[in-house]
Amino acid sequence: MAPETVVRETVCKTILQRSGLGDYALNCYTGCMHGCVYCYARYMQRFHPHTEPWGNFVDVKVNAVETLKRQLRRAKPGEVFLSSACDGWQPIEADWRLTRRCCELLLERGHRINVLTKSALILRDLKHFAGQDVRIGVTLTTLDERLRKLWEPHAASVQDRLQVLTAAKQLDFETSVMFGPLLPGLSDSREEINALLQRAFQLKVDEIWFDAINPRPRVWPSVAALLRAKFPHLLPRYRRILFDQRVRAEYLQGLRARIEAAADRLALSDRVSTCM
Ligand code: SF4
Repeated sequence: MAPETVVRETVCKTILQRSGLGDYALNCYTGCMHGCVYCYARYMQRFHPHTEPWGNFVDVKVNAVETLKRQLRRAKPGEVFLSSACDGWQPIEADWRLTRRCCELLLERGHRINVLTKSALILRDLKHFAGQDVRIGVTLTTLDERLRKLWEPHAASVQDRLQVLTAAKQLDFETSVMFGPLLPGLSDSREEINALLQRAFQLKVDEIWFDAINPRPRVWPSVAALLRAKFPHLLPRYRRILFDQRVRAEYLQGLRARIEAAADRLALSDRVSTCM
């Protein structure tokens, strides 16, 4: 956890939201201590204003479990994605266990759970979820730990995330991986994509997704600041990829072609999808 993290206790009126990422999404926290530089969930600050920068605050929805219980009286069973606007297994979950308790309730009521995390804390819950309708997924933007520390400063290491996939497979879970957002000039080359897919292949991952960096609101200032400090030569390229529609279309076309070629080579095409 970042030492300067400000934690507040809040109450929510609803917690199970309709979502395009499944039937529902569920977030027990507002804010995310992982503080990823490219995080799209920054838009949450529009609705929950904080003076602290993204990554340095988290609001705990202390009545998450009670609220979910109430909503579940009427919610039709479906797939629930955790989490869409925070990491449900970010460090504060170790104390509060809200995500875990919500998952237990959802499973009791016949819902399917789709986990996507950058935290090794999910290992705590695997045994409890074993044999139930749960898919375990992790996000990886790169296999390079040096880059990971820069872009996802408080998330789990690359090795720990790979370990989550290994442990999940050993317990017979369906698994997924989201490779994204791939970082232009850093983790989007043919070699990098091959290496990512090779790992997924070795770990027998069932579903593999790729995403590109996106021009979502509030993302550019933090991305630009990191580029300026560490990769100044890449700044103009990122700006064009994010904001020049013609360049972006060409970039995405090339990226898709590299992903398809790598997937073909490893005979993984039926497991690979892109969200671009
Ligand atoms: S783990 Fe996800 S929600 Fe958390 S900061 Fe990173 S990208 Fe945002």
